[in-house]
Amino acid sequence: MARPQKIEVNQGEKFGHLTVLQEQPQEVRWGQSYRIFMLRCDCDNVVTKTLHDLRINKIRSCGYKCPFRFADRQKRSNKYA
Ligand SMILES: [Zn+2]
Repeated sequence: MARPQKIEVNQGEKFGHLTVLQEQPQEVRWGQSYRIFMLRCDCDNVVTKTLHDLRINKIRSCGYKCPFRFADRQKRSNKYA
């Protein structure tokens, strides 16, 4: 049986505005285990996100209240304008 390759996430790695502080113990949700990371946003908020959030949901800021979230969206739409 093929083992899923472990995705390397290093301390200090950035996902948009989020910087990886450290990996947390895995959490089991709905029968699946999730890797959890503690991250610091550029707005100084510290949040925890799953690897799934970062890689699949493409979470790039601490949340809907994040002041950088809107700026990001503008930047993206300008790029294709
Ligand atoms: Zn933020």
